[in-house]
Amino acid sequence: MKVLGIESTAHTFGVGVVSEDEVLCSVKSMFEPDEGGIHPRKAAEHHYQHALEKLNEAKQKSADFDELDAIAFSQGPGIPQCLDVGAVVARSLAEKHDIPLLGVNHCLSHISIGTRTTNAEDPTTLYVSGGNSQIIEYRSGRYRVIGETQDIALGNALDKLARDLGYPHPGGPEIENQAGKTDEIIELSYPIKGMDFSFSGLVTETQRKIGDVEEPVLCNSFQEHAYAAVVEALERAMSQSGSKEALLTGGVAMNSRLREMVEKMCEQRDAEAYFPPPAYCMDNGAMIAHQGLIQLKNGDKGLDLTYSGVKPGWRPDQVEVDWI
Ligand code: AMP
Ligand code: MG
Repeated sequence: MKVLGIESTAHTFGVGVVSEDEVLCSVKSMFEPDEGGIHPRKAAEHHYQHALEKLNEAKQKSADFDELDAIAFSQGPGIPQCLDVGAVVARSLAEKHDIPLLGVNHCLSHISIGTRTTNAEDPTTLYVSGGNSQIIEYRSGRYRVIGETQDIALGNALDKLARDLGYPHPGGPEIENQAGKTDEIIELSYPIKGMDFSFSGLVTETQRKIGDVEEPVLCNSFQEHAYAAVVEALERAMSQSGSKEALLTGGVAMNSRLREMVEKMCEQRDAEAYFPPPAYCMDNGAMIAHQGLIQLKNGDKGLDLTYSGVKPGWRPDQVEVDWI
């Protein structure tokens, strides 16, 4: 079986083709704002401009599209204007080839590609990206959100702080680079709230210190506080459920300090830490294709075009999981 997947929840327009045995291709184009954050209309324009080119690239790299068994797309959650582009392209392809159109939850596909590309089986997932920050575990029929941000996502927080420091978007890599220049830390508020966390206040507090505190110290302090909070919540979740596996995914999973903290915490709990390859931590089309493949193999007949609208606020715990 072969499934083509389309990702377009935010900054990335990605196309991937997977079979049971291999990822045949994963190509993408990322929208990079000249200034500010992700402007929905501009990002959607970017996706429209690159859709055909990425589809052609995928066609050359994988196989004849006539061999495809289904088309999957990120139905949500995400930026509505961006989601619409992927949905339109996916509907057209499914119609043209007369194959099922599969709606995929973006967050769950991060977990599925994570278990496919590592040895993790039933992990507690820390999913930290530009738009989402959640701790997720599978329990009897659904993925449950055990903890999550109460305001903005961790990646968004890093990007906001980076903007005020004059760093390019996305800001995570340059904040990591600056933080690596020092071991010094100043005290900031610790943003954990029970099993949840929140980053808006921490961003404001850090922003107010710009100019008074050296940039590497600010970046290092922000990272230490924010990452310690999510790892503490992850540890609590694992302790509560007795989980012996942690999976770190989403764009912020690229951060080496965060990986180190997750690794250390797991070591101390005699648990295993799993990190998917960087290309599969960031948004990509292969993960959508893979999630589609799972659903197809489990009997998903696909969406009726009339009911294939995007779901910008679709939470992972709203999906009835019948494939585990
Ligand atoms: P995603 O939405 O999953 O594609 O992830 C994008 C987010 O990942 C952005 O907010 C980036 O700032 C963040 N990111 C990328 N690389 C790093 C890094 N090395 N450290 C921290 N955050 C990162
Ligand atoms: Mg994502």
